[in-house]
Amino acid sequence: MESLASHGVSHALVLRAPWHFSGYSAALFTRALCEATRRHSPEVLLLPASGDGMDLAPRVAARLGTGLTAHCTDLALEPAGESWHLIQVVPGFGENLMVEIVCPERRPQMATVRPGVFPVPEPVEDASLSLLEEAVTPAPEDGLVEVLEVLPGEDEGADLEEAEVVVAGGWGMGCLGGLGPLEELARLVGGVTGGTRPAVDKGWIPQDRMIGQSGRSVRPHLFMSLGASGAMHFVTGFSGSRFIFSVTDDPRAPILRVSDVAVVADLREVLPALLAGLRGLQG
Ligand SMILES: Cc1cc2nc3c(=O)[nH]c(=O)nc-3n(C[C@H](O)[C@H](O)[C@H](O)COP(=O)(O)OP(=O)(O)OC[C@H]3O[C@@H](n4cnc5c(N)ncnc54)[C@H](O)[C@@H]3O)c2cc1C
Repeated sequence: MESLASHGVSHALVLRAPWHFSGYSAALFTRALCEATRRHSPEVLLLPASGDGMDLAPRVAARLGTGLTAHCTDLALEPAGESWHLIQVVPGFGENLMVEIVCPERRPQMATVRPGVFPVPEPVEDASLSLLEEAVTPAPEDGLVEVLEVLPGEDEGADLEEAEVVVAGGWGMGCLGGLGPLEELARLVGGVTGGTRPAVDKGWIPQDRMIGQSGRSVRPHLFMSLGASGAMHFVTGFSGSRFIFSVTDDPRAPILRVSDVAVVADLREVLPALLAGLRGLQG
């Protein structure tokens, strides 16, 4: 609670159920959040696009009869008469188009955001938080499904958001047989690997390491993109990076517009030379 207060939360609602649920329960959490929303009538309801959040948000939106925008890459409030419109930004189907979505009639206005999309605000000292506790009354059917155990995946990409250097590969890495050579590049520059959706679809990298709107959001000091075109769905996952380096052989690729330094050349020439140079630096 202290951390919430220091990061700008002024009021928090704690929902308590009378019996113990180990972890997330879709039925109970949906009921609890819907009941609390009906009691407090918030204008806006935001949920994390985490595993649980992605399960919970559409259930709540459907039960409350309101809209939901998933995986927003930006949010803003705009005055609308006596109320506010939540401007929900997502990449559009045209891939290089950002779309602003509003939910003018139904309430609450609901959106999900991937962890890491927004920077964590600087903590402030001596902030206070007012806490309201409410009881949740479970229904018998809330206990029909119980989570007995959560097994971690083989590779959950847990280190991506914390990494200072991220090396990501795209479809173009196919010319070198996949993302294999990127593992060495990542080792040499002290980074971790990620990839685009086609790289995941080809099985070159686990799903948990996909960067972008429907994947992970990273803001490293250095982001290296090799063999990716720079579709908006991908770029929104790393646009907050401090320095962006890219390699593509397409002089019109959108990745060039967001790169601080870009090399337009064939990866079959660039990557071996880059690796050889870095190996040389390491002596
Ligand atoms: C709703 C929705 C959500 C999505 N979410 C995501 C997401 O989270 N993450 C994501 O990545 N995508 C996502 N996508 C897909 C996204 O729109 C793009 O299709 C995808 O990012 C393209 O991946 P890519 O850059 O690897 O492939 P491509 O667009 O095919 O680009 C390959 C690049 O490699 C270059 N290349 C090819 N050969 C060489 C070579 N020998 N040397 C150098 N360069 C070479 C090409 O010129 C090109 O620039 C989403 C799509 C939708 C509709």
